[in-house]
Amino acid sequence: MDIYFYNTLTKKKEKFEPAIGNEVRMYSCGPTVYKDATIGNMRTNLFQDVLRRVLKYNGYTLKHVMNITDVGHLVSDADEGEDKMIKSAKEMHKTPLEIAEHYTKLFFKDLKNLNIETPEIVCKATDHIQEMIQYVQKLIDNGYAYETSTAVYFDVSKLDEYGVLSGIDLRKQKAGARVEVDPEKRNPYDFAVWIKAPENHLMKWESPWGLAYPGWHIECSAMGQKYLGRTFDIHTGGIDLIPTHHENEIAQSKGAYGVNPARFWMHGEYLLIDGGKMSKSLGNVYLLNDIISRGYDPLVYRLFTYSSNYRNKINFTWDGIEANSKSLEKLREGYQKHLNGNDDVSEPEIQNFETKFHQAINDDLNMPLAMSVVWEVIKLPTKSPKYAKLLKKFDSVLALDIDRPIDTSKNEIPQEVIELAEKRLKARKEKNWAESDSLRDEIKEKGYEIEDTKDGYQLK
Ligand code: AMP
Ligand code: ZN
Repeated sequence: MDIYFYNTLTKKKEKFEPAIGNEVRMYSCGPTVYKDATIGNMRTNLFQDVLRRVLKYNGYTLKHVMNITDVGHLVSDADEGEDKMIKSAKEMHKTPLEIAEHYTKLFFKDLKNLNIETPEIVCKATDHIQEMIQYVQKLIDNGYAYETSTAVYFDVSKLDEYGVLSGIDLRKQKAGARVEVDPEKRNPYDFAVWIKAPENHLMKWESPWGLAYPGWHIECSAMGQKYLGRTFDIHTGGIDLIPTHHENEIAQSKGAYGVNPARFWMHGEYLLIDGGKMSKSLGNVYLLNDIISRGYDPLVYRLFTYSSNYRNKINFTWDGIEANSKSLEKLREGYQKHLNGNDDVSEPEIQNFETKFHQAINDDLNMPLAMSVVWEVIKLPTKSPKYAKLLKKFDSVLALDIDRPIDTSKNEIPQEVIELAEKRLKARKEKNWAESDSLRDEIKEKGYEIEDTKDGYQLK
């Protein structure tokens, strides 16, 4: 069956096939490991995982590369400002590499909890400094990069076109409107590929341009090229990466090899919180651990993301999580009912549902439609292990552990206890300690312990 993906490059859905044989070569921009990954980051990782699983469902094998940005990257899009990793290291009194290791571990724990497969190749930026230096040298040799007293810059004016993904027209951009003007830069939109380290900079490497460290974009170009070749099939990331990071990756690849590195560029939309942005200042940054510590199976979050196509925004609410928790339970119950059923069903009946599911996932990963097919099968009055087998096949894409037996022995935390815990969280936020203590006692009377965590609580 044909597969269609929306390609940010052409702005339309296009038929997808790997360029070479049966293997899909794919690159995903990975985490910058200086802070906790949020459920927003995880939405992007879930989109990429569904993409992997859909490709496998279609019989393809994968060579998927994900980088770990452990050199930090600069604070603003425009490559100015303090290095994020170093800022975090100073705050936590750890070396940048210790910080990176700590957050890398947590990141992979989240992936595991969400049944997100580890890409075939996971590569750290700090292990690829030499490849990056060679890439920068090639850009200079080809006339696409130049050295200044502070950095090596990519000269965007050397390209026939800059901005193929986002459609930005540089001629219409005012110099300095968004980017600080550096008198040594030839064009305001020139970006740093290699940055000369100030005296006190913690992470720096010997290079033909002195002690320095890589720009963020060069990482992905150098590692993508090393593991996947000059061109590959799919490049993915969150939608925010389009206008700077991905435009600059394309620019670098054109400068070094004269090609756009990927045929398909696919981007995941943002997760919103209560209809708005997730941000530290609004105090609404949620981690997967916050969902787990409120007693939910982390796969509830995975199911929650299927309520919207990856190219649409999705709004996170605790009510949404609660509703999906019930749905996940019903899915698993429904699977068990089919498994234990003994009704007779014909092959064409099974095939009909399989085709509908397959068409949905092959239509640009239409998970809401795919889930409607799953529910149709779950709700069938005819119960048969053949349907259970079909649901198990669907679960190779859904990854919801649909066949996990319902644990009736496990006591669920009663709603009234969760409500008390929520009330207490509110009291704590309002610094109403007396109310908070009395609620703790009430929770204890009902047989539960409550522990405070960084962003919420854990009930035991
Ligand atoms: P960052 O943490 O900003 O470095 O982002 C890492 C990756 O997660 C990028 O690909 C972002 O596009 C993605 N990302 C960050 N915030 C969100 C969000 N709220 N929803 C979906 N993806 C996000
Ligand atoms: Zn990247």
